[in-house]
Amino acid sequence: MVVNQGIGDPGLCECVLPGHQLKRLYEAEDIAAGVRRVATAIADQTMSAQLLCVPVLKGSLMFAADLLRVLPPTVEVDFLGVSSYQGGASSSGIVKLTRDISTSIEDRDVLVIEDIVDTGLTIRYLLDTLALRKPRSLRVASLLDKPSRRVVEVPIDFCAFKIPDLFVVGYGLDYAEAYRGLPYLAELTLPEHS
Ligand code: 5GP
Repeated sequence: MVVNQGIGDPGLCECVLPGHQLKRLYEAEDIAAGVRRVATAIADQTMSAQLLCVPVLKGSLMFAADLLRVLPPTVEVDFLGVSSYQGGASSSGIVKLTRDISTSIEDRDVLVIEDIVDTGLTIRYLLDTLALRKPRSLRVASLLDKPSRRVVEVPIDFCAFKIPDLFVVGYGLDYAEAYRGLPYLAELTLPEHS
């Protein structure tokens, strides 16, 4: 499964699936700085100490884990699961809730934690769904934002990095469930025929 590729080229990773190319975009230190910036901005807002963080599985797992470690310890957490990419590199456009939170959010300050906002359809669906449950406030923190791909307007209250239209993997983000464990963020280029 693992092939050596691009050894000697510092822009390319050597551990990829056949035909795939990874080009590093943000190293672990860049990501850590981005997470600190987002955490500071969240803490600067007047949200209650009992903020409920809602990471969206699975892509936001690393971002949420790092963010939670620098937010006040009274912050609570519950998880949402959605699928819209169904394993590929382009969105199906159909958002499906695969896991709901078990916490009541009525009159709570809620922060949805996303890995990336692309068309905006997923976060729009989640915000509309959660708003019906009458939270006191509902905000979004996303590690990445691809504004040029937007199909629906969505508010992103906190964002670490705005990026162009690239397919990104690593630090929780996958391609067909691979690459989530990479400690850095990279652009994935697929073979011509895929
Ligand atoms: P949207 O509904 O905004 O189009 O897409 C949101 C979801 O699509 C993200 O939460 C993420 O799971 C997936 N996605 C969008 N762009 C990328 C990307 O560049 N890389 C990966 N791995 N997933 C993406």
